[in-house]
Amino acid sequence: AIEHRGHPLGGEKRRENRVVSIANPGKPPFDYLIVGAGFAGSVLAERLASAGHQVLISDRRSHVGGNAYDYYNEDGLLVHKYGPHIFHTNSEEIFHYLSRFTQWRAYEHRVLSSVNGQLLPVPINRTTLNRLYDLRLSSDAETAAFLLSKAQAIETIQTAKDVVRAQVGDELYELFFEGYTRKQWGFDPSELDKSVTARIPTRTNDDDRYFLDTFQVMPLHGYTRMFENMLDRPGITIELATDFEQLRDLRLASHTIFTGPIDEYFDFRLGKLPYRSLNFLHQTIDRERFQDAAVINFPSEDIPYTRITEYKYLTGQSHPKTSICYETPCADGDPYYPIPRPENQAIYKQYEALAKQQSDVSFVGRLGTYKYYNMDQVVGQALATFKRLMQQAGHVDQM
Ligand code: FAD
Repeated sequence: AIEHRGHPLGGEKRRENRVVSIANPGKPPFDYLIVGAGFAGSVLAERLASAGHQVLISDRRSHVGGNAYDYYNEDGLLVHKYGPHIFHTNSEEIFHYLSRFTQWRAYEHRVLSSVNGQLLPVPINRTTLNRLYDLRLSSDAETAAFLLSKAQAIETIQTAKDVVRAQVGDELYELFFEGYTRKQWGFDPSELDKSVTARIPTRTNDDDRYFLDTFQVMPLHGYTRMFENMLDRPGITIELATDFEQLRDLRLASHTIFTGPIDEYFDFRLGKLPYRSLNFLHQTIDRERFQDAAVINFPSEDIPYTRITEYKYLTGQSHPKTSICYETPCADGDPYYPIPRPENQAIYKQYEALAKQQSDVSFVGRLGTYKYYNMDQVVGQALATFKRLMQQAGHVDQM
């Protein structure tokens, strides 16, 4: 049925590959067609193929890895094409599962925010407060009392703005969150769901790590290599630079796993689900280090971008040059962030109900379920979907 096998490396190294004909119109040539070769699709492809199924995994992009894709640029620097991806999880199961496909390097992420002419740690911690207000807070209790003195009493917390003001008060809200959130989402925090900022942590100690998860690591040879190891096995055929629309009517498999936007699958028949997009400007700088932290945030609305990442912190690469990336949020472009507003959730719920009526397709991943998920959460969701599919098919022994 498939004339050539695609190359998991994608990009320039990819060979021409096209689905050309169906050998047996009666029986689909694959057990599963997976649309999207990001974490959701690739984990499912690996699990299903390892359980003995024939899988065709496709992506409209010319590479595997989805938004976690990384590559060496023309200067030989490892770059994350779709913005910085830092792996962190509390799940031992997810960490051990991915460890089959990569070695790791320990990496603790740190972020500074450019505020009032200073570079201050975020999440806001004791150092942030001492430096911003020229204080000498020296204990958790003193810092907690200071934050409490700043916090606003808000009767019912309804929006993202309420959450932050209730925690840190108006001044810190304006300095660190207001402009950043407006740029990031194109909406004022008062118009956004409280879930956007519900997990915004503040620290009363001087721990300046961005994440506190048990496992904080980066794939030693990059994400793309990890995806290649995951997909390079019998039973998996890869079809890159191919949109689902090109495969939809070919009856390639009896079950489709769709990790693209759920509204697109249904031809937007219940309306379009809004996404926030990003513009990434990658630059090589001809010196070893560019900035004082992996990521520097720019909350001010006078600056169009939200943050600058210097990839060498993440990748651990030694190189005489360094590569940086400016991120500027925008309305149009690739769908990156589902916009967390109640009316959008209401549309998604209708699509979800429609999806439940179809037994020959499963929706997975953050576009398939219209939810901002971190990589580990998507891996967890894909592993759970695999178990469900196997149970439905009565293959309990293969789990
Ligand atoms: P994706 O990676 O988006 O993969 C979906 C794939 O489906 C895409 O490759 C797309 O081309 C393909 N596709 C869609 N529609 C079609 C179609 N019709 N036909 C064919 N192919 C199609 N998570 C973290 O844990 N840590 C981080 O630091 C982090 N940073 C992030 C930074 C940014 C800027 C962004 C945008 C996300 C970040 N994430 C991070 C989240 C992470 O990217 C996601 O959790 C993860 O990529 C989701 O995997 P997925 O497979 O669901 O989706």
